[in-house]
Amino acid sequence: MRFTPQDEQFRAEVREWLKANLTGEFAGLRGAGGPGREHERHDERLAWNRHLAAAGWTCLGWPAEHGGRGATLTRQVIFYEEYAQADAPARVSIVGEELLGPTLLAFGTPDQQQRFLPPIRAVRELWCQGYSEPGAGSDLANVATRAALDGDDWVINGQKIWTSLAHLADWCFVLARTEAGSRRGGGLSYLLVPMDQPGITVRPIRQMTGTAEFNEVFFDDARTDKANVVGEVNDGWKVAMATLGFERGTAFLAQQIAFQREVSDLIEVAHKNGATAEAAIRQELADAYVGVQIMKYNGLRMLTKLVKTGVLGPESSIGKLYWSSWHRRLGEIAMHVLGTDGLLVEGEPGGEYALNELERTFMVSRSETIYAGASEIQRNIIGERVLGLPREPRA
Ligand SMILES: Cc1cc2nc3c(=O)[nH]c(=O)nc-3n(C[C@H](O)[C@H](O)[C@H](O)COP(=O)(O)OP(=O)(O)OC[C@H]3O[C@@H](n4cnc5c(N)ncnc54)[C@H](O)[C@@H]3O)c2cc1C
Repeated sequence: MRFTPQDEQFRAEVREWLKANLTGEFAGLRGAGGPGREHERHDERLAWNRHLAAAGWTCLGWPAEHGGRGATLTRQVIFYEEYAQADAPARVSIVGEELLGPTLLAFGTPDQQQRFLPPIRAVRELWCQGYSEPGAGSDLANVATRAALDGDDWVINGQKIWTSLAHLADWCFVLARTEAGSRRGGGLSYLLVPMDQPGITVRPIRQMTGTAEFNEVFFDDARTDKANVVGEVNDGWKVAMATLGFERGTAFLAQQIAFQREVSDLIEVAHKNGATAEAAIRQELADAYVGVQIMKYNGLRMLTKLVKTGVLGPESSIGKLYWSSWHRRLGEIAMHVLGTDGLLVEGEPGGEYALNELERTFMVSRSETIYAGASEIQRNIIGERVLGLPREPRA
């Protein structure tokens, strides 16, 4: 795998643009936002995202007719690498840009594409993902939220949970049962539902980080237009699975850049507070560094496969399992480095509190082995679909 001179030129262009634009009103946004910090400077990050959009730096992989650059996968990865390298603020529109957008490009009608893609690209409408329910997480086919036609509208009843950023979203793509009495993946439809309506209640769930980034979402006779179903009615499972495929998209291939920075920062803290005097900590830090190198080369291997075959395949589970386990371990190492200082936070008992960067990594990384396919599920995929081992017994 080599980057072509044109790719390198593209990299230089991205780097220059970010350098020239993460200045002035946006200068202070470096490093803002992201898991455990989504509450930070949301309006300013929204303005930054719209600034990116105006310069054509959103939805890079989309075809030009829908406002993208038709960028190759390699260039998309280069963009994310440079974005991470510049420590640019976490983007606010990832769900629309990376999950729903590609789904609509693959399954949406021309009318749906015309209605929904431009505001995603311009970051004028934000989206959330309404899949999980109290009884349907890893076992997503157990979805019980239902929708029925009433005149020109779908009427939706039920509950979703863990809906990230629902409190900030304008729209939600909802997996709902539209065929009464159906079971499992059959009889589900993929509906696009406006959030700002009386039939929808969003209740934030406070996490151990002290912040609330995901929510319970209740649908009580919520409505959406009959036309807002993606793919065929009762055949939404196929569409929902395609969205999950896009969720394992290209951005994570650039993650190791941010991880490398975290390791370097941690080593600096360990030098300063004397933790490196301990052999066990030195070994843990070296292990963490080795992990970043493994992610870097595994990422290149996956990118090569993507470029050559166009699909990631079940091997992408190795990447998800590895980075999430590695990051959780890094959080634990960070606590070893901090020692008893890691038990202290700024704030009043029982009230608001502020975590430092390392404490946040320790806590947030616990969620990473759960979302986008829990580690146990990734191991099942690797066992069954990569190694050809016997199938896990199904309940
Ligand atoms: C930070 C965060 C953000 C999220 N954002 C969203 C969102 O925006 N939209 C959305 O729809 N959902 C979201 N989720 C939900 C996420 O998709 C689910 O948490 C995930 O699918 C796991 O489901 P569950 O929580 O119901 O756990 P369960 O599926 O109940 O799993 C419980 C435990 O059992 C294990 N387990 C389950 N099945 C098997 C099996 N077959 N074999 C072996 N072990 C098994 C799991 O690995 C886990 O350890 C988010 C979750 C988190 C943590």
